[in-house]
Amino acid sequence: MSTSYTWQTIEFPTCNVCGSEFLILDLLIEHCKEQHKILPYVCEHCGRADKYWIEFERHQLVHSEERPELTAKETVNASIHSSEGQSSTSTEKNEGV
Ligand SMILES: [Zn+2]
Ligand SMILES: [Zn+2]
Repeated sequence: MSTSYTWQTIEFPTCNVCGSEFLILDLLIEHCKEQHKILPYVCEHCGRADKYWIEFERHQLVHSEERPELTAKETVNASIHSSEGQSSTSTEKNEGV
């Protein structure tokens, strides 16, 4: 599993069946139709084409990680730290009247 998570480089639409790269997405789709007789699942985010839906669906998780709407990690407060006098920082802002 080599997942290159790089947003800096623009990735060309790549055929996951044979590994061929194409300049535009239309060529990739045409290629898949002609060569592989399939209609690939194309990621609208990065142009990646997957043959199988399960792979495509799994790939979508990469983009879903952009939004930190997942459950926050349980931060275990170690009791080692000495209780410093912290000012009350309330993250929740109540927009009251
Ligand atoms: Zn191909
Ligand atoms: Zn993608």
